[in-house]
Amino acid sequence: RDYVELYEQDQAKWALIRNVNTATKQSTLLPGDYVWLDLKTGREFEVPIGAVVKLCDSGQIQVLDDEGNEHWISPQNATNIKPMHPTSIHGVEDMIRLGDLNEAGILRNLLIRYREKLIYSLASYFSVYVTLPSSFLTSYFLFPVKTNCGGRTYTGSILVAVNPYQLLPIYTADQIRLYTNKKIGELPPHIFAIADNCYFNMQRNNRDQCCIISGESGAGKTESTKLILQFLAAISGQHSWIEQQVLEANPILEAFGNAKTIRNDNSSRFGKYIDIHFNKRGAIEGAKIEQYLLEKSRVCRQAFDERNYHIFYCMLRGMTPEEKKRLGLSKATDYTYLTTGKCTVCDGRDDLKEYSNIRSAMKVLMFTDKENGEISKLLAAILHMGNLRYEARTYDNLDACEVVRCPHLTTAATLLEVDSKDLMNCITSRTLITRGETVSTPLSIEQALDVRDAFVKGIYGRLFVWIVEKINAAIYKPPSSQPKYIRRSIGLLDIFGFENFTVNSFEQLCINFANENLQQFFVRHVFKLEQEEYNLENINWQHIEFTDNQDALDMIAIKPMNIISLIDEESKFPKGTDTTMLNKLNFQHKLHANYIPPKNNYETQFGIQHFAGVVFYETRGQCHVMLTRRDQRVLLGGGLAGWKEWADTRMNRVSVIVSPDVTDAAAQSHSPLQGAAILVNSRSSPSSQCFLEKNRDTLYGDIIQLVHSSKNKFIKQIFQADVAMGAETRKRSPTLSSQFKRSLELLMRTLSVCQPFFVRCIKPNEYKKSMSDCDDIFCVAAARCSYVICVIYVSGSRTTAEELFKGGIRSDDDAAEIDVRGTGPIGWTTSKDPAPGEDVAYEGRSSVSGLVW
Ligand code: ADP
Ligand code: MG
Repeated sequence: RDYVELYEQDQAKWALIRNVNTATKQSTLLPGDYVWLDLKTGREFEVPIGAVVKLCDSGQIQVLDDEGNEHWISPQNATNIKPMHPTSIHGVEDMIRLGDLNEAGILRNLLIRYREKLIYSLASYFSVYVTLPSSFLTSYFLFPVKTNCGGRTYTGSILVAVNPYQLLPIYTADQIRLYTNKKIGELPPHIFAIADNCYFNMQRNNRDQCCIISGESGAGKTESTKLILQFLAAISGQHSWIEQQVLEANPILEAFGNAKTIRNDNSSRFGKYIDIHFNKRGAIEGAKIEQYLLEKSRVCRQAFDERNYHIFYCMLRGMTPEEKKRLGLSKATDYTYLTTGKCTVCDGRDDLKEYSNIRSAMKVLMFTDKENGEISKLLAAILHMGNLRYEARTYDNLDACEVVRCPHLTTAATLLEVDSKDLMNCITSRTLITRGETVSTPLSIEQALDVRDAFVKGIYGRLFVWIVEKINAAIYKPPSSQPKYIRRSIGLLDIFGFENFTVNSFEQLCINFANENLQQFFVRHVFKLEQEEYNLENINWQHIEFTDNQDALDMIAIKPMNIISLIDEESKFPKGTDTTMLNKLNFQHKLHANYIPPKNNYETQFGIQHFAGVVFYETRGQCHVMLTRRDQRVLLGGGLAGWKEWADTRMNRVSVIVSPDVTDAAAQSHSPLQGAAILVNSRSSPSSQCFLEKNRDTLYGDIIQLVHSSKNKFIKQIFQADVAMGAETRKRSPTLSSQFKRSLELLMRTLSVCQPFFVRCIKPNEYKKSMSDCDDIFCVAAARCSYVICVIYVSGSRTTAEELFKGGIRSDDDAAEIDVRGTGPIGWTTSKDPAPGEDVAYEGRSSVSGLVW
């Protein structure tokens, strides 16, 4: 970034350094020459685009850009056009070889390869240190580097994968054989090459390996994970029962943890780390799965055009009529919890077939018929609970409500094996203990809905945890006690990428916190450890500049009074609210460079400067919205039926946050809906959706009491820990962030002893479309949201890249002396190989430079 900035600030200096006189270059442009075209339209994600010269006519140049648009460039706008480095014209497999090693160069490389169905590219990173005269260093180089010895340390490669959204014939058994036991770079980049290197590195170096797969939703992380697993299973080559069990864990996890979203028809709504264990002979002998942060809210509510978890729809399509009858079930469209997204089918997914796959996978993983029956009962109970209807009442001037008598209530109670009266009481009133006395207070409709939804989410979340434990019980084998052999493993991390939505909440904070950790891991791996090595070797290595995110990480979770600990403290504090929490955060961190406090007393969001950009977190709950037509006001909780139909069709599109003192007029001006206004229902209880409540993630004592009273052993088992805490559950159960922090710490500790590989998945467009087009706007966004790819490279002198590979360049007195040990591709950074004797200066990059994207 520094480098690009310098370029932008001081083009003259740059031109001098490059010895590229743009003016003369343009006049010599000929038809057929490739150029970079900087359209300067001022869009947010703008990068120069590639183009080819079609015509040169009296100073004017006609070019055809990569998107097929033609432009006439007049001499006044000649600075908008720059010659393209030859390496960028047809693309390269390893982007370290790009002459135009910048955002535009990388994107174009991905684009033109993608158009040829070459979805994989490499980005190798390594460092070179150089010997240079000090005068040169001070005047032109970005980073002061002084060293009197040369050398190179190869660090590794990142595989960049662009989602093809179509089945490519590149994952066959032949391909697996082809990629087996090859060095990276020997064959075209491929996910199998990464898998292969993981496997053979593990064996050669006798060290655990890990593969960190990142990218935004729908970019291809889960598919990549599956492909690596497929490769490992194939080359470890036993076709054993345990191997099949490891592979069959996936369909179960996906059934319960994946759903159709607008970004991805099979979107994982949880993070996972699969550690695959190998025996002495290199065969898979077991595995262990760790899951992170399942999105529980989806069980109760889905955004427009999204679905609940696959399992519900599969179950309703796949069960026999008798099974369904026993559970009182009908079809998906009959259930509120399955229809808030107005979408019950998913193109290209056969829920019926999937159901039989899930059932057979469950058999392979030793789920008994009884257990399957119990799981179905809980899932059915959830659906019935969702169909309960409430009516508002007033008792002693208090808002209260009642559940409308219906078969769903009794069926849910039967399935949960609890008394239906108890169930009803639990979800319409709350027991408070004040000064030793127990008082029952009624709940308003909104509170009652929250309590019911929290119960349902509680059941589903615990069921998911139980399922993962059940899978682990089948596939995890404790290490053998043989003293000689230390078991080796390959870990695959498939975890949500950095997120920045219009409205970000607690979940985004957790996800971005995880990504900060992974970024730090990457930075440590690439730079910090390297520097430590130099120090050990006594190399005079004064300074390497890199984007270190340690400060942000310290502020979020490490230093005393960090953000996570303050949120946690406030969650435990009986009087804590989102406002008191925000005040504490501001008080503690307002001066921190990575913290952006609210601008005024009304703002309810705080910002964090993350490594991938600033994200604002909304601390208030996203309140229920109340819809008001211009002519008639309809109140939430009042005559529900009146606005229900109208709201049903649009409700999910409406999601605004307006300050509590909003007026009708202000709401109307906010409203994206014609003829309607949106008001925040200030009476509603946004409890289940606000920051602290999301973090507390606990159920009220009444619910735990209800579970305790149940005759259903299974539900008691999944709520075991809560029941054990009894009435204290709300106070004592660990918060979500503290659990997540702990599991992240464990993960980072595991990763830190592994040799890492990085796979960066990128989504070519937002429409789940194949090859048609690579929308570069999203590409840039996706690339920026992935972690940093830092490409370190060396500037060249009068030599070619090939000479560099051969083992060293020699140059004149004023030039660099670079001794390159080892082999491997290297970045070439002058725009053209200079002719002998031609005066050429160095690129403005010293031995190290970070390209951040
Ligand atoms: P993520 O886990 O990053 O959210 P997925 O791995 O689920 O994304 O990929 C989303 C969809 O993209 C998949 O369901 C599949 O249709 C498609 N896809 C991803 N990677 C590939 C690939 N290598 N080949 C073919 N299709 C793919
Ligand atoms: Mg996924």
